[in-house]
Amino acid sequence: MIKVSELNFTYPGGTTRTLHELNFEISEHEIFGFLGPSGAGKSTTQNILIGLLKDYQGSATVLDREISDWNDEIYEQIGVCFELPNHYHKLSAKENLDYFRSLYQPPTYQPEEVLEWVGLTSDANKRVSDFSKGMKTRLNLARSLIHKPKILFLDEPTGGLDPVNSRRVKELIRDLRARGTTIFVTTHDMMVADHLCDRVAFIADGKISNIENPDTLKKQHGSRSLRLEYLDDSEQRCEREFSLDGIGQNDEFIELLKSAPRIETIHSQETTLDQVFINLTGQELTS
Ligand code: ADP
Ligand code: MG
Repeated sequence: MIKVSELNFTYPGGTTRTLHELNFEISEHEIFGFLGPSGAGKSTTQNILIGLLKDYQGSATVLDREISDWNDEIYEQIGVCFELPNHYHKLSAKENLDYFRSLYQPPTYQPEEVLEWVGLTSDANKRVSDFSKGMKTRLNLARSLIHKPKILFLDEPTGGLDPVNSRRVKELIRDLRARGTTIFVTTHDMMVADHLCDRVAFIADGKISNIENPDTLKKQHGSRSLRLEYLDDSEQRCEREFSLDGIGQNDEFIELLKSAPRIETIHSQETTLDQVFINLTGQELTS
């Protein structure tokens, strides 16, 4: 659905390159994530793929056509959710969707249908000026998919959402994939990348370091460990960490279990995607 080869980009007038030699492909029905800290180049990449930033070097195709060769027809095929929502504030949610729907060739979804998906049914007739930030974010998502696009581009789709709505949005994105939509999502939130994406590309300083399934990344590049808290002979609280690999043969661990006067807690420490990100890129996601 999307193929990017040797993509480079420098903002007009800029002296430093923003994107360096990006290569990736996204297949039909895939949820593909771009995970990286603020300023990594995620939105820049999305803006190239949707035809907004034109003077790129290398090749980027959407539906087998080079982006620079597409005209406005591309917007019938793709849906875009920008990081910052822009709605008509004097209109209601439903009126906003009715307006945007009218710009596209039928068939489109009914506004009521997509409002239900994003949990805004009871706010359908409310003016958007009275919406909270999270409600605007959800309306933004509803708008991006109203024309049944083949590919959806979502820039930080859960930004500013509470946990309940964040989960709702993730479920909706999975449902859309099940209906046949291909999804490109950019995020700095490792939970979004981990729970949602079939494959994730790690991006830092405009370079992709790895592209893999999130579980595979954690298996290959994470370190699983076990943390043990115990009281020693003088009732001092002590802490030890052991690798989970080969724990059954770890004499030191087994000896400690036998000899510690009192075990307080034993916890396995799961690898998180942000830990893997640090291991592979040397950068933190939240920086
Ligand atoms: P992300 O979405 O990963 O947070 P961006 O793609 O927005 O990152 O930005 C990548 C880099 O490009 C940053 O250093 C940012 O300052 C720079 N940048 C973004 N937009 C512009 C612009 N319109 N003009 C010049 N530089 C920009
Ligand atoms: Mg961004």
